[in-house]
Amino acid sequence: MGVSDLTTTQQTQQLLALDRAHVWHPYGPMPSTISSQLVESAAGVRLRLAEPLGGNRELIDGMSSWWAALHGYNHPVLNAAVREQLDRMSHVMFGGLTHEPAIRLAARLVEITPEPLQHVFLADSGSVAVEVAIKMCLQYWQSVGRPAKRRMLTWRGGYHGDTFHPMSVCDPVGGMHQLWTGVLPDQLFVPEPPAGFDAEVDPAYAAELATAIERHADELAAVIVEPVVQGAGGMRFHSPGYLTLLRELCDQHGVLLVFDEIATGFGRSGALFAADHAGVSPDVMCLGKALTGGYLTMSATLCTGELAHGISRGTVPVLAHGPTFMGNPLAAAVANASIELLLDQDWQTEVKRIEHGLRTGLADLAGAPGVRDVRVQGAIGVVQLDHPVDMAAATEAAAREGVWLRPFRDLVYTMPPYVTDDEDLARIAAGVGAAAVAG
Ligand SMILES: *Cc1c(COP(=O)(O)O)cnc(C)c1O
Repeated sequence: MGVSDLTTTQQTQQLLALDRAHVWHPYGPMPSTISSQLVESAAGVRLRLAEPLGGNRELIDGMSSWWAALHGYNHPVLNAAVREQLDRMSHVMFGGLTHEPAIRLAARLVEITPEPLQHVFLADSGSVAVEVAIKMCLQYWQSVGRPAKRRMLTWRGGYHGDTFHPMSVCDPVGGMHQLWTGVLPDQLFVPEPPAGFDAEVDPAYAAELATAIERHADELAAVIVEPVVQGAGGMRFHSPGYLTLLRELCDQHGVLLVFDEIATGFGRSGALFAADHAGVSPDVMCLGKALTGGYLTMSATLCTGELAHGISRGTVPVLAHGPTFMGNPLAAAVANASIELLLDQDWQTEVKRIEHGLRTGLADLAGAPGVRDVRVQGAIGVVQLDHPVDMAAATEAAAREGVWLRPFRDLVYTMPPYVTDDEDLARIAAGVGAAAVAG
């Protein structure tokens, strides 16, 4: 019997059985111990499931597919951009060849990011963007005759991706560094930045940062951090004042500064880039996730002229990196369309509206039993529990409210698409509340 002869329910069950038997999911065991939900289609802010979850087949997506789907799903403008590019060419190699979508994208990124960032390396995922950022920094110091400068410094609580160099700068506990002793490069860690976007810079913490950077300046290539919002490492917010401080300290001690804006880029934290909250520019910036509006996988690593020229003066005067699908025209075309769609609207007002809706909708959870903290920054809402979340129960409880969430550790959180209307936003907040109570 072929798949097409089966009833829809049987088909779904068969597909899910194949999924459990063969398909690895993020951070999952094999074979899988919990079943995934089969998605049939998605439009606007809604995911349509093959079978109901919590009594609902349509769920409002509270996750933007992990920070990516800013404009929701199946957007006519983004669909058209992909179709138009598909009719021209879906891909050509980027060695020796170039094309308009990638050129326009790189030029646009240079235009909208802080001024000193002038050069763009396009790759295929956020982790690779971070690999490239680290490679740029290490190679810069080699090229200018300081090869001992090859360690990275970061603060705890970070997340920068799952390939090995990015893993080495993830939080040592959350990133399971004990599994990889002797394999991961040995980086330098300072404590997590003190919490609170509006908090004053803590002088004791500032002094600790200064001491660490000064003491290790001779071996430090760069400091790498997620500005303002630490995402998958714990959903924590900190003052932009620490970015200003890092910029000063790095300048003072001849250390490069990398901002990983893969999660925060394109307005999520309330500024177009989180660096804009502080008005500082890093030497290297990584973008990804929302870059293509959640349509296709692409990332960008931007760097300053000084860094690029330094690398290109070295004994190996090239940046030795070149992914097969570098600059992919489909991804670049939809990225261009997504950026224009964002910038052509009053996105600040939309993000503020979502921020306000989340603050209002989550306010009652502060002080609820089992809840340690409720925090909102830009279009990000977080409920931190005082215990590890029961993921299955929390997911089901949110689905009963008609909402898709993906809690982890002690966190129930949401970063909705910017197009989420107030009614759906209220349901998302109710979903977060239900998940927090059930989980
Ligand atoms: C998601 C993320 C990455 C990794 O991106 P992938 O595309 O998943 O490889 C790196 N840094 C930050 C801050 C992220 O949020």
